[in-house]
Amino acid sequence: MADYYEILEIPKSASQEEIKKAYRKKALMFHPDRNQGNAEAEKKFKEISEAYEVLSDDKKRALYDQYGKEGVQGAGGFGGGQQGFSSMEEALRTFMGAFGGGGGGDAMFENIFGMGGGEFEGGRSHPRQGASKRVNINVTFDEAAKGTDKELSITNYVTCNTCNGKGAANPSGIKKCTRCGGKGQVFEQRGFFSMSMPCPQCHGEGKMIVDPCKTCSGQGVVKEKQRVKIHIPAGVDNGMRLKMSGYGDAGPNGGPHGDLYVFINVEPHKLFERDGNDLLLNLPISFSEAALGAKKDVPSLYNHTVRLTIPEGTQNEKIFRVKGEGFPNVHGSGRGDLLVKIFVETPTKLTSRQKEILEEFHSLEGPANQPKRSSFLETIKNLFSL
Ligand SMILES: [Zn+2]
Ligand SMILES: [Zn+2]
Repeated sequence: MADYYEILEIPKSASQEEIKKAYRKKALMFHPDRNQGNAEAEKKFKEISEAYEVLSDDKKRALYDQYGKEGVQGAGGFGGGQQGFSSMEEALRTFMGAFGGGGGGDAMFENIFGMGGGEFEGGRSHPRQGASKRVNINVTFDEAAKGTDKELSITNYVTCNTCNGKGAANPSGIKKCTRCGGKGQVFEQRGFFSMSMPCPQCHGEGKMIVDPCKTCSGQGVVKEKQRVKIHIPAGVDNGMRLKMSGYGDAGPNGGPHGDLYVFINVEPHKLFERDGNDLLLNLPISFSEAALGAKKDVPSLYNHTVRLTIPEGTQNEKIFRVKGEGFPNVHGSGRGDLLVKIFVETPTKLTSRQKEILEEFHSLEGPANQPKRSSFLETIKNLFSL
């Protein structure tokens, strides 16, 4: 294979701008969509893409300038040191990268070629996927825990039944576009080279509908309200997304439907909070219950109560774990736990009798009744030599 600079027909001193320009010009000339079944053009396209891949990268270019092709191959120039561009896919990726900069590659590509290339009839009227949609759905905390079925009403474009998506009232209602002669593209001079643009009259379709279908006004698709059943699996969390394949708009020219993305919003619960698959519950108990111990029935999410034994001397913020009473695992089996956090309440609005008893209790209190307080006082004593 010839030298990369020779392949792109540029001097060794070419700037990045010049390299890109040269590549574009040649890539457009030898692109496989314009040279279908032409093996020579395919080889050329791979060559120029490989040359561009190296020369457009300053590091690879420096290695190439110094050591030739071996330099860039050793450095893993082509997907791990492989010999040149073996696949058309790689070459096309380079092409997309140069034109679209990645993400918008597809749209860019359509803009440049109008998807016509002049060779195939019908312009860009190949099947394309319909638009995907997003809907937000609210579920209660309970529904998220148990799973539920929801029905949604969405408005989608569906293929028109009258014309089967063709857009014309009858087959003779479709004519070749007069402006582009059915090619779907027109040429425009841009600097040094001529560029093909989608035909403005037929929008690249290459054909015009002279007798449009009355039902869809020639669009081939009609809006339709649809009811969609959505199964919300048990264990879904706030912000999760369900993909409903094929529930988006119908694709133009008989292309596949887009998808529907359902974004889940879980409403908060009055009692429970969620932490992963665990449930948190704050349980207020009286200070005498905390001191003497008690049995408490706490609610679970699953329509029953759980009996909790609170031992003598339970401290504030102590957490009791009840196995398997949490949220189901949405991705598998099993459930999280219920974590019951104790909140010891100081009694208020005491009657005089209650006060009397408490005062008597207070007079009998000793250090052993409050282990934490005793060690706290001990520490202070030592620190400040009180
Ligand atoms: Zn129609
Ligand atoms: Zn046209």
